[in-house]
Amino acid sequence: MSSGNTIPCATCSAPVDFFAPPVGPFCSPRCQMVDLGRWLAEDYRISEPLDYEEIAELRNQLEDQHEAP
Ligand SMILES: [Zn+2]
Repeated sequence: MSSGNTIPCATCSAPVDFFAPPVGPFCSPRCQMVDLGRWLAEDYRISEPLDYEEIAELRNQLEDQHEAP
């Protein structure tokens, strides 16, 4: 059923119910990680593609920075 609340996934443009997913404007956690990796790569100016473990590690570093006083 169409609720009229669908938006395109920010990564793959698949229609996603704006109110349904727990992963923001993404259709899946996978697409969320792809987008996260994309801006992390730009932020850190890394020329080669990140793999999943590197993305997770970078995210942990960001979270550590948030906890620092
Ligand atoms: Zn997607």
